[in-house]
Amino acid sequence: MSEANFDFDLIVIGAGYGGFDAAKHAADHGLNVGIIESREMGGTCVNRGCVPSKALLAASGRVRELADAEHLSRFGIHSAPVRFERQKIADHANDLVSTIRTNLTKTLERSGVKILRGIGRLEGPQQVGLRESSGVDKTLTAKDVIIATGSDPFVPPGIKTDGRTVFTSDEAVNLEWLPRWIAIIGSGYIGLEFADIYTALGCEVSMIEALDRVMPTFDPDLTKLATRHLIDGRDIDARAGLLASKITPGCPVRIELSEMKSREFVEEIEVDAVLVATGRVPRSDELNLNSMGVKTTRGFIPIDERMRVLINEKPIPHLWAVGDVTGKLMLAHTAAAQGTIAVENILGNSSEIDYRSIPAATFTHPEISSVGFTESDAKELASKDQFELGIVRSYFKANSKALAELDSDGMMKLLFRKDNGEVLGAHIYGLHAADLIQEVANAVHRRQSVIELVNEVHTHPTLSEVVEVAYKQAMKQLNGR
Ligand SMILES: Cc1cc2nc3c(=O)[nH]c(=O)nc-3n(C[C@H](O)[C@H](O)[C@H](O)COP(=O)(O)OP(=O)(O)OC[C@H]3O[C@@H](n4cnc5c(N)ncnc54)[C@H](O)[C@@H]3O)c2cc1C
Repeated sequence: MSEANFDFDLIVIGAGYGGFDAAKHAADHGLNVGIIESREMGGTCVNRGCVPSKALLAASGRVRELADAEHLSRFGIHSAPVRFERQKIADHANDLVSTIRTNLTKTLERSGVKILRGIGRLEGPQQVGLRESSGVDKTLTAKDVIIATGSDPFVPPGIKTDGRTVFTSDEAVNLEWLPRWIAIIGSGYIGLEFADIYTALGCEVSMIEALDRVMPTFDPDLTKLATRHLIDGRDIDARAGLLASKITPGCPVRIELSEMKSREFVEEIEVDAVLVATGRVPRSDELNLNSMGVKTTRGFIPIDERMRVLINEKPIPHLWAVGDVTGKLMLAHTAAAQGTIAVENILGNSSEIDYRSIPAATFTHPEISSVGFTESDAKELASKDQFELGIVRSYFKANSKALAELDSDGMMKLLFRKDNGEVLGAHIYGLHAADLIQEVANAVHRRQSVIELVNEVHTHPTLSEVVEVAYKQAMKQLNGR
């Protein structure tokens, strides 16, 4: 299939979720594909992200459940004090990582993708440099090149990491030890998930957030409910508006706290460990993007809706970028979707991404999820497009399944247009919120209206009835009905 003058039809740089999906999809469609990876196959998600963190959450979530004597006693269950082995929990995560990494590598090999080990870079149009770990450097040619080099943890200036007492999620997923007192810098989804893990396993947590409220990226109404349960109800001291301006590793770790706005020194605290969870930065500096004249924005590669790399807003032929390195909704399923879309366009099938319908989830106990517009963005859209915004709330405490589980602390907020019923977004906090959001994501993808959705019958008793109730409430609020 390869065009005569090229080594490959497609070279993908980076074998994370974005690169994996692109390479597999292309090979399944008959292209001759090479994929370059400098570290472990599977990238962040498999080795240092979704997979190990969810394994830790699964185990620590069970510990939390079994240790919650008061909750269990409401069912009439009395268990012995819960005991757990940290090393076995860590082993569970590590074993899962290696199983998934092996499966993913075999899947690529079976599809006929050639795995090339080393650091990839651009060398000019349709040319890729490969530096192997042996030091051998080659230039390969490909009709198309996809950049899928992902991201790394961001460590703010003033913070020194040593990987043992001050570390990022890259090390936290190994659960090498359980500090008695750990400070988590940042209250985004990674900080929240690790706070869930650490508190379930008996650690005290101080959460430091620079912005003026804890969980700043989440819906404010959900945050009120979620902080009550996920933060105030646990061994967490959360403080907003404070900057961890200097962190010195050691025993103890010293943290200098300053007021975010004035930058005035507030106090120094000493803890056993610090997890820095302050966001992620794109991995693009090794790519020699200058050779193609590509200008990044804070390291993120500009792309259009078809994943074509842009220079001055114009697409460059045969160069594509997907995943975290593009900075759009930095999630594994976004990267994978972008990878497939890039390949569809390479194959000549014009295809565009729909970011609005990509859901996001935080796997705390209980979970938080969202899709589509935030309430403030929906309000802006409503005033721009001159329609009335509808907002309804559906509560888990009115749901039979949640009540049966004695776990009815939760809410769903649905945003919709009052003129035609179109669903614009949803935000859920509660049991299995990460699964529940998918139904709304599908509706947003199809730009469906509650007028259609309200007729869909939901199984009783299931949590999905929380969504059904929201659709029914929205229906009652439609203009002219
Ligand atoms: C703790 C944590 C938990 C997370 N949980 C979730 C979750 O539950 N759900 C979810 O959807 N997302 C989650 N994410 C985010 C998710 O991991 C990323 O969005 C996803 O991995 C991005 O995929 P990617 O392919 O763009 O990049 P990556 O997975 O980062 O892969 C990029 C790959 O490219 C390689 N590479 C980089 N430069 C070069 C080069 N020059 N040459 C060769 N190879 C190179 C890297 O070694 C890496 O393997 C989590 C992230 C973290 C950190």
